[in-house]
Amino acid sequence: MSTTSLSTAVAASDIPSRFFQMLQEVWGFSELRDSQGQAVEAALSGRDALVVMPTGGGKSLCYQSPAVYRGGCTIVISPLIALMKDQVDSLHQVGVPAARWDSNASGQEKRELLEQLRQQRIRLFFASPERALQDDFASLFKGNKVPMIAIDEAHCVSQWGHDFRPEYRQLSQLRKHFPEASVMALTATATQKVRDDILQQLQLRSPSISVSSFDRPNLTYRILPQVDVLAQCKEIIDRHKSSSGHSAGGIIYCMRRLDVDQLADSLSQAGYSVVPYHAGLTPQQRHQAQDAFVKEKVQVVVATVAFGMGIDRSNVRFVIHASVPKSMEHYQQETGRAGRDGLRAECTLLFSNRDVNSMRKLLNNSADQSSASKDWLESQLNQLELMVGFCKLPICRHRNIVEYFGQSYSTENCGACDVCLGDLDVVTESKVIAQKILSCVHRMGERFGTNAIIDVLLGSNSRDVQRRGHESLSTFGILKGHTRVELKDWIEQMIHAKLLMVVQDGNYPLLKLGSQAKSVLFGNHIPKLIRTTGASAQESIKPLARFLYDTTLLERLLEWRQEAADQEKVAPYVLLSDTVLAEIAARRPSKIDRLSGVAGMGAKQIAQHGQAIIGLVESHCSLKSIPMDQPLQFPSSPVRDSYGVRFKERKSLEQIASELHVVESTVTKYLVEHILEGSVKDVSAWVSESEIQKVIAAANKVGYGRLIPIYEACNSQIDYNKIKIALAFQPALSPSGQPKGS
Ligand SMILES: [Zn+2]
Repeated sequence: MSTTSLSTAVAASDIPSRFFQMLQEVWGFSELRDSQGQAVEAALSGRDALVVMPTGGGKSLCYQSPAVYRGGCTIVISPLIALMKDQVDSLHQVGVPAARWDSNASGQEKRELLEQLRQQRIRLFFASPERALQDDFASLFKGNKVPMIAIDEAHCVSQWGHDFRPEYRQLSQLRKHFPEASVMALTATATQKVRDDILQQLQLRSPSISVSSFDRPNLTYRILPQVDVLAQCKEIIDRHKSSSGHSAGGIIYCMRRLDVDQLADSLSQAGYSVVPYHAGLTPQQRHQAQDAFVKEKVQVVVATVAFGMGIDRSNVRFVIHASVPKSMEHYQQETGRAGRDGLRAECTLLFSNRDVNSMRKLLNNSADQSSASKDWLESQLNQLELMVGFCKLPICRHRNIVEYFGQSYSTENCGACDVCLGDLDVVTESKVIAQKILSCVHRMGERFGTNAIIDVLLGSNSRDVQRRGHESLSTFGILKGHTRVELKDWIEQMIHAKLLMVVQDGNYPLLKLGSQAKSVLFGNHIPKLIRTTGASAQESIKPLARFLYDTTLLERLLEWRQEAADQEKVAPYVLLSDTVLAEIAARRPSKIDRLSGVAGMGAKQIAQHGQAIIGLVESHCSLKSIPMDQPLQFPSSPVRDSYGVRFKERKSLEQIASELHVVESTVTKYLVEHILEGSVKDVSAWVSESEIQKVIAAANKVGYGRLIPIYEACNSQIDYNKIKIALAFQPALSPSGQPKGS
């Protein structure tokens, strides 16, 4: 999700402007996104809240920023040590005193921590649910005001969720010890059942409920037929290497531990830097793998679903599902680990029906072994079927995900999935091909599996074909000229459309005619077979950010960040995010104070790293003899162009919004981009000269960083869209970025 200052954001009106001042100083953000604003508003007024936000949506800011603003000690319950450690590290980076309870800490360390608590110096304290439920927990906070208890990954409370943790069910007891504290429950899982369970189990009192959009526009989704997992994975990893050969971060999910070990081995042997991760490794091995990935010593992790919940690495550029995930929730959450910095990332699922069958078997077995209820098994199998349907239907993936989570999706063409990018072709001769496959299954007496049937259709001379005398069948070779992969894919599509079905004969899966086969054979029903080209993936990788940036400079900044992070013993993305570095590589600032114009750079980060960054930018620019202090520039795209045309026609924001079915703030976002790059030079259609003067005068008085004080200084008479346009227009007049006339 975008974190640049140009993103569509709403300034929640009931949040005091002093809060935004703090937000800018500590985190470098001048605004909150819609649902963040709602959550923060609830926290500031001491009201309980449920925050449903997809992974990467800026969840932690919802409780961290009120905690800093209100003072006292906010307690954060988190299910994983790795997750807590990352949060505490990130908070230290921006200068917020935070700590976590570490049961492995030495006696001396524990005493120091207790002393800090006693002196009321900790703003956020992280603990596991187990620790929070111990009798002496409340006494740790003696003398501290505890304004809020934040419960992260709150879906762990629900047995309908995918990470059920029984201790979570007892967390409502904390209320007794901290009667003054409000409770904020946060989760990335959003089905109604889980949401209801959270409200009930945690006993939230008339909570504010904010649910943000489940769409992740910066992710590109593709479902490809599984052909050769190793080769397909290599291709994707290679595609994400930078010009200088740097690998990008990626996660490959496999179904079983065995698959993980095999794939990780094969990739290592082929010279790729990868680590395996699954529950069968020792805790130490797992810790090392995770640490190497987070610290960017290793770029690719091959893992089971056990990997990920504690991983906060924001610059993961691709997620591959080497087999089908268990449910849409899993898919959404696992793909959600890509592109958390808001930059582009790619999610590829390699689908095969064999995996679906194995998954069904695994679910049945685990139900048998754990004597789980019939309901549970049924619900799991049902979720798997929904996942399969998602893979097999040629519906926009963004739309399908968002609608699955109960939200609506208004974009016609997302421009970021295989369906909308035109990777899926309907095969023109679908009907004839389907009829040929069906009649072949019929001629072979419905007694063979997929491979034997494909052998016959292709007219293969294999020993099996000869032994069985299949050359004499009338269907022998009738689909010669197609590939084995194509036929396999089409047969899977036909299974999904109930034209074929798989029946287990002992250990051998046989292909039989399905319930819908007759209607196709008799020509009453015309099936649609899809050919997946994957063509759009072959195009060179799109730039990471929406604006253009200096790639060599970005590489140098990334190297510098790696060294600085090593020295400070933190993960690189904790130090500064990729988005921030990309914006620096675009603007090439010449002075430290210009860094405050980069979204996501807080005061402490500027004080700590500003000098080093400016030095690096300076030496790069003088070496290459290129100018510094550049405006952001945006590449063209069909969507952007559709706005550009309308800006040229000087249509009003309202009119453009209604023509393109978007809200006015989205139109403003594009207008601001066009102004910043200089393609719109006259803004009088949207804001008058006198309004611009007022906004500039206000900004000179209260500062350029925050919208609300400017709005207030203009006597609340100029709306936020106009302020954004005026501010964007103003530095465009003078290349130095300084107010005109100063
Ligand atoms: Zn789409």
